Amino acid sequence: MSLLSINNLSVSFQTDRGVVQAVDQVSFDVDAGETLAIVGESGSGKSVTALSILQLLGDAGTISDGQIVFDGQNLLVLPEKDIRNIRGDRIAMIFQEPMSSLNPVLTIGKQVAEPIWLHRKKTWNEALDQAEELIKKVSIPDARQRLDAYPHQFSGGMRQRVMIAMALACEPKLIIADEPTTALDVTVQAQILSLLKNLTTELNSALILITHDLGVVARYADRVAVMYGGRIVESATAAELYKHPKHPYTEGLMASIPTLDGEPGSRLQTIEGQPPDLLHMPAGCAFHPRCPYAAEICKHAKPLLKEVEANHFRACVGYESIS
Ligand code: SF4
Repeated sequence: MSLLSINNLSVSFQTDRGVVQAVDQVSFDVDAGETLAIVGESGSGKSVTALSILQLLGDAGTISDGQIVFDGQNLLVLPEKDIRNIRGDRIAMIFQEPMSSLNPVLTIGKQVAEPIWLHRKKTWNEALDQAEELIKKVSIPDARQRLDAYPHQFSGGMRQRVMIAMALACEPKLIIADEPTTALDVTVQAQILSLLKNLTTELNSALILITHDLGVVARYADRVAVMYGGRIVESATAAELYKHPKHPYTEGLMASIPTLDGEPGSRLQTIEGQPPDLLHMPAGCAFHPRCPYAAEICKHAKPLLKEVEANHFRACVGYESIS
């Protein structure tokens, strides 16, 4: 049995302009110790899928269908009190912008020690000692002194290290990292992602990495799910997806990665058009207005995710004839 099984998850949001179907019939599994990357453009539904797991959708969001089974329990039927106990304990989340996730008026020590004190029932001094160990583990020097510092005294990379320390505090079985390095420069990004990957491997925790960066996927993920318009359009192992992308959207994403051996002065490839307006989703395949292979059938039939090779899934009704 997988550690996490998401089955037919659908999430909608009530907005001033109408109801938005942000996630539509999404299913995937994550095993213990595995890193799954969820890739897609803004608005593809990847972050909403992740937030649904911990039911952090806010008042406007509704999970209208599906199951989220974690460690054998459907989280969607648990009372809020039980979900609160799971958050930060068995499932931890790392957000994109640590400055808005850390409390600016509390010291780093208090923020790292709190989940340990709360969930592990330690005394405050024991929790602080453990916080110091965690700060060391994420390679922040002078850990004891740093416990008394405030978030604004840390650089962006250091703040993200603190977020990782907080996420690891209770040795969670699942860590969800939503674009954890988007706000950081490239060298710091690599350090943070390597740190996150090594520490999750050490704990045998599963990691869901939400990203729009295919470079990150290639280096750190075991498996990849590509999302477009609220649905998974392709999923495979990272190695297989890179070698043999089988969906036109994935193919477009791959083609738009700059290469070192490209012709000097040549134009970067892009995917024509814009991501869909979720309030006015195209009928049939949501990608059809941008797809170079679109056929008449694509405008009417909604593609379902089907296994096209062992462990390689694709949702496309019109691509069969040309692949
Ligand atoms: Fe393109 Fe049609 Fe496949 Fe959609 S279903 S990705 S429009 S070929």
